[in-house]
Amino acid sequence: MSTQETIRLYDNDAYATEFEAAVLSCEPKADTDNLYEVVLDQTLFFPEEGGQSPDKGVINGINVVDVQIKNGVIIHTVDIAVTENEAGSEPDKTKHGKTNIDKTKLDKISAGSHISGKIDWQHRFYNMQQHSGEHIFSGIVHSRFGFENVGFHLSDSVVTMDFSGVISPEDIADIEREVNVAITKNIPVEVTYPSKTELESLEYRSKIEIEGQVRIVTVPGYDVCACCAPHVKRTGEIGMLKVMNYQNYKGGVRISILCGFRALEAFRQKSQIISELMGIFTTNQEAIIDNVTKLKALNQSLKSELGSAKAEILDYKIASLPTDIDNAILFEADLDSNAARSCVNKLVEKYSGVSAVFTGNDEDGYSFIIGSKNVDCNNIAAALRNKLEARGGGKPVMVQGSVKAARNKIERVLDDVLE
Ligand SMILES: [Zn+2]
Repeated sequence: MSTQETIRLYDNDAYATEFEAAVLSCEPKADTDNLYEVVLDQTLFFPEEGGQSPDKGVINGINVVDVQIKNGVIIHTVDIAVTENEAGSEPDKTKHGKTNIDKTKLDKISAGSHISGKIDWQHRFYNMQQHSGEHIFSGIVHSRFGFENVGFHLSDSVVTMDFSGVISPEDIADIEREVNVAITKNIPVEVTYPSKTELESLEYRSKIEIEGQVRIVTVPGYDVCACCAPHVKRTGEIGMLKVMNYQNYKGGVRISILCGFRALEAFRQKSQIISELMGIFTTNQEAIIDNVTKLKALNQSLKSELGSAKAEILDYKIASLPTDIDNAILFEADLDSNAARSCVNKLVEKYSGVSAVFTGNDEDGYSFIIGSKNVDCNNIAAALRNKLEARGGGKPVMVQGSVKAARNKIERVLDDVLE
């Protein structure tokens, strides 16, 4: 693979979408059938870097599925599998010993050839909206509280920032508002390359030792930060910033945000959910939470009523069991573990042998509680383990566990062991 550092065309123009380049190397990606790694002399593709997901797009019409950077070399992973609608092109089995490779695609990107590339502009622009919004947010946090953004992640669906200190919900809301004020001011975003001496006296975020030229992205009045990613020209293009979520994280706070069109899409989805809930409850937005709270409470009280009714039926069953037997074994379809335990306790008081409750069904198996005052229940658990691969155990007076077997098989094992 070529080791020549790639010229980053996106550094100078974040808005360019098409470019020409020479292919320096094109090699199969290890452990894959249809992926190749292409190194160009220059590129518009922003690689996965600094927590941001890579650009998407095509090189000579071939899909770029990943972009990575190693020692300044940008590696484009392309997919040259034969696609369904290209059934006419013959898979090349001879040269590469691979069955699904489109040789015409491979020829287009071989080393020495010239390519034209095109990035997915919508994807890039949406990423720029998120990243520029994040800078303003982090800049305000830094100037207000002195906290650093110690973990940044920008994917297609979510942006998270981890700050080195806790920020209250009120402050988060206030910062969100201030970011949106900065957006409406439509401030020009500046990209500069200060000299080493200029950098020494410059106050900026992400001040780490970087080899070579440091790129500084400034939103005047809000943020100065070392950054390698493409940004919008003016803050107005961010559109809006919305905090989606926050939680305490590693002694600080993790805040999720969305900007621009991704924020709009999230708002559309939430509106849709609320509309559906309004339909379900035939109520207005303000009353939804009240409705859900009441429904939860009603569900809880119905559950407890059902529990009492089941307990009564169970007591009735226990009372109607014959009294002239030693062992009492019950099979119940649906019983929670507390009810099952209380049932076994009542049976143990009544019967001198073994008392057991199996809850479940033949298909899913049964959970069981077995108790006795006079018989060592561990022997019964052992028999169920040995013959039916049951799990569980306990003390001589009570064992519990589960067994994936049909009722008649369980009964046969119990008959044998209780003989
Ligand atoms: Zn950045």
